[in-house]
Amino acid sequence: MANRNRREAPGRDRFASVPGGKLVALSALYESTRAIGGRSSLEEILEEVLNQAELLIGCEHAALMLYDEDTETLRVAALRGYGDGRENLLRSVMKLDEGLSGWAVRSQRAVRVGDVRLDRRYREGLPEARSDMAVPLVVGRHVAGVINVESEREDAFTEEHEKLLTVLGAQAGLAILAFRTQQALRGRLAQLEALHQISQLASEADSLGVTLNQMLDIAQETVPEAECAILLLDPQSNVLTLAAGEGYQASARYLEIPVGRGVTGRCAATGEVQHLRDLRSPEAGHYIPGIPGARCELALPMVAEGRTIGVLNAEATELDAFGSQEIQTLTLLAQQAAAVIRGGQLLDETRRLAITDGLTGLHNRRHFMRQLEENVLRATRYQETMALVMLDLDFFKEVNDRFGHQVGDRVLELIAVALKESVRDSDRAARLGGEEFALLLLRCDRELAIAIAERVRDRIRDLTVEDVPDADVDLSASVGIAFFPEDGDSPKALMRAADDALYTAKRSGRDRVVLAQSIRTAAVDGTS
Ligand code: GH3
Ligand code: MG
Ligand code: MG
Repeated sequence: MANRNRREAPGRDRFASVPGGKLVALSALYESTRAIGGRSSLEEILEEVLNQAELLIGCEHAALMLYDEDTETLRVAALRGYGDGRENLLRSVMKLDEGLSGWAVRSQRAVRVGDVRLDRRYREGLPEARSDMAVPLVVGRHVAGVINVESEREDAFTEEHEKLLTVLGAQAGLAILAFRTQQALRGRLAQLEALHQISQLASEADSLGVTLNQMLDIAQETVPEAECAILLLDPQSNVLTLAAGEGYQASARYLEIPVGRGVTGRCAATGEVQHLRDLRSPEAGHYIPGIPGARCELALPMVAEGRTIGVLNAEATELDAFGSQEIQTLTLLAQQAAAVIRGGQLLDETRRLAITDGLTGLHNRRHFMRQLEENVLRATRYQETMALVMLDLDFFKEVNDRFGHQVGDRVLELIAVALKESVRDSDRAARLGGEEFALLLLRCDRELAIAIAERVRDRIRDLTVEDVPDADVDLSASVGIAFFPEDGDSPKALMRAADDALYTAKRSGRDRVVLAQSIRTAAVDGTS
């Protein structure tokens, strides 16, 4: 409890009353500069400022408030005296239109009031207060905060006190600014480091899943309070699914979030950051639970090449855990991650295109040859059998001539579907070029291979093309089959044998399946 009758602190008026007081004041200020400069944490700086204020003007009740330019509010950050009111003051946040401190910050001038009962600007801090002085901590055009001192005596503060506190205030402002700049730089450095780490992932990426988890680790290290997850957008279905996020509950793991739904969906729909400071507030009605006990959420769009490819979601178990610094950092990380993911997607796409036939979506000749080589090696090592089936449409030129190239293309597409549907998942199907196709049937015995080839031939004969009368399209195919290893034990020999069988099928009337073995047998018999 503050004591009204207490003797004033000995420091009061100590400079005004002695000869050469100014010099003493200057050396005291010099000392205070040194003392403040020697502090390394913001708390220490603020405590030291109040120490020095006490030494310079001997005040009993002093509060140092920091000013937040974004929210235009003052918050008590260090306190001396104030008796029972301490706890309330330490929790209080003041608007600029409140109290003498607000006035001092707004006008960037010190204010000194001899009797607060006569000044309507005064807002009660100390019930017994009579006089008050508030000095802004001005740095250039900015105000870092304010020092407010109060006394239970009327007219306790002199012009000399005001000057001293003004100089101290400028020093304190500088020290706070320097600390904040340093902190911002540190944050910036951490950001840069994280961005660099994420960009590094682009070159190491071989599995998207691993890359995404590494990205989350980096985000977690940079913004420790954030539990992050990455949701990727499927452009076909316009649905977001969780692609990485270890802390997220099972309920979120298999969730499909349509664009527009919930906080995350809204982020993807608008391409804008969604920030929910309190998930228990009514505006959070559409929150879809991620981590257990989440109290606030941030959803940041992941945009690459102008398209939203996903959402970086951050949640925290603390209320309003994300400030402008965290939001800025996570926004940058989300952008960088988007660029890396998009790069990976493009690379996958390019790889896929390089091995795919553009018209039918089957593998192309180059890729089929590579698969054949790999499988010949494998089958040799494990002594497995394989069948190579080669197929060429009969009189396909006529289809083009009669119905046009477009119908011809459509037929080729339908043939590809028929091929894919006729083979097992483990088999390979390819378009070797033009109207020539191939199948590689792995671990396949003779009967099955022939059955598959006949099935394909049947399907081609039964093929119907939209908008073309059935009777008019007389499609058929000639097929050659060669078995590994008996008809050829190298890729080249096997191809050659299948090709020869196909040629025989053509020559002997088309629309049939010919085995390479039968040609060899015929050649030995001399009947061909
Ligand atoms: P056969 O094999 O029975 O001896 O006769 P064919 O008419 O099928 O054989 P040919 O090799 O003389 O002609 C192949 C035709 O396939 C020529 C070309 O017009 C057609 N063709 C090749 N590639 C495509 C394609 O991508 N689209 C279309 N529409 N036609 C193609
Ligand atoms: Mg042909
Ligand atoms: Mg041909």
